[in-house]
Amino acid sequence: MNSSTFTTDTRSRSSRAQLASTHIRPHSKTRVAYFHNKDVGSFHYGVGTGVGAVCKGASVYDTKKTGHPMKPHRLTLTNDLVINYGLHELMDVYCPRMATEAELLEFHESDYVNFLKKITPQNRDTEFADVLGNFNFGDDCPVFDGLWDFCRIYTGASLAAAQKLCMKDMEICVNWSGGLHHAKSYEASGFCYVNDIVLAIRQLLKYYVRVLYIDIDIHHGDGVQEAFYCTDRVMTVSFHKYEPGFFPGTGDTTEIGSELGKYYSINVPLKNGIDDDSYVNLFRTIMTEVKDRYQPSVIVLQCGADSLGLDRLGAFNLSIKAHGDCVKIIKSWQIPLLVLGGGGYTIHNVARCWAYETSVLLDANLPNEIPGESKYLDFFEPDYKLHPHLVGRVDNQNTKTDLKRLTEVIFEQLRHLDGAPVIQMQELPDGIAEYLQEADEELADTREDQRANKRMKRSKAHDNEFFDGDSDQEQDEENTMDLD
Ligand SMILES: [Zn+2]
Repeated sequence: MNSSTFTTDTRSRSSRAQLASTHIRPHSKTRVAYFHNKDVGSFHYGVGTGVGAVCKGASVYDTKKTGHPMKPHRLTLTNDLVINYGLHELMDVYCPRMATEAELLEFHESDYVNFLKKITPQNRDTEFADVLGNFNFGDDCPVFDGLWDFCRIYTGASLAAAQKLCMKDMEICVNWSGGLHHAKSYEASGFCYVNDIVLAIRQLLKYYVRVLYIDIDIHHGDGVQEAFYCTDRVMTVSFHKYEPGFFPGTGDTTEIGSELGKYYSINVPLKNGIDDDSYVNLFRTIMTEVKDRYQPSVIVLQCGADSLGLDRLGAFNLSIKAHGDCVKIIKSWQIPLLVLGGGGYTIHNVARCWAYETSVLLDANLPNEIPGESKYLDFFEPDYKLHPHLVGRVDNQNTKTDLKRLTEVIFEQLRHLDGAPVIQMQELPDGIAEYLQEADEELADTREDQRANKRMKRSKAHDNEFFDGDSDQEQDEENTMDLD
């Protein structure tokens, strides 16, 4: 493949996002904010301990040969596509601050947070050797350089996004580095250390009456379900593979919540190989009923991309288009929406998927050709397409009868919801309004700093690959940060 094929001016222009409907979009009131800290992609879970097969799931990986399957670099790839498709010009872009220790303590237990703060590869086998197991550290959740900062970066982005939704000046907020749904209050689990989703939902609960959490990762969203199992103010719905031995082992239809939360946890357990039509129809049918019954005031959508076909750890057959159709369905309801990442282990497809879903949220059409300006073009060989063929590796073991029965079981559960809970919202806790205002001003300051940086860079005539000769347009001024 000759990469120069992708560097002509003609092609550069054609690789930019086109608004799906130029005569509708300008009147659209949907405002989208994108939260990305460029450092998040530079962390590395390490090469593993050489123990060998460590995944609890059916798709076993070997740390000796290929390293840990969770690769934060996928976030750099995603952002690279977002920028090179020009999507940043269509939304507000923020570089959020790291979460504070106090913010993590809103959900996580203090001994666990203290451990996260102190553990390093250097002291792991000495000072902390005896307690690693207590916090479920091991091959799935290794100690790596910068772990504490990594957790605070992806969590800070989810919190900033939630705060932005609380301010109600943005309809959709996106953080692809978030969505780490397995982490528990007391321990790490399934490559997840801090549960940014739970923390973000707790933030949303201060301003919104009912939060609907939807999880399309191939793994059960167990950490989020567990955190809100006894409340009706958060309804969790997880679509996932559920078979003996597949991580995390929970997520049967019988897990429905308890106490006040009884009937407010929904699980959609699936078998290997589910295809586009079956999945999207099932998703639309169930989620429409959930929405009508529960009437959420805000939605959190975890878009784990390990449910795509050909995922390194997954076993479904979904195309990027079908995965994005789920996002499209939720967006069409026009309810405030927090969109997060999650799993996804064939990283070039994760990046394709999340860049495409960013375009879905923006009502923009992307050319199928990967932009030639991408620094990471080699990741997208051999086809260099946004929508490669991903299906067919695994036979679909979900029969129509299975899926019909599953739908009936879930509809029966939903019939117990006697209308959406009407909750008298408490007075806002002291200081929350001020806190949110400060957080928002802080974000604004960040953007102001970035504008200043950019102006300084310009004056020094530094080459900035993301802003071309037209960059003094107003639109560019509105979206100023270093995005690589
Ligand atoms: Zn997953």
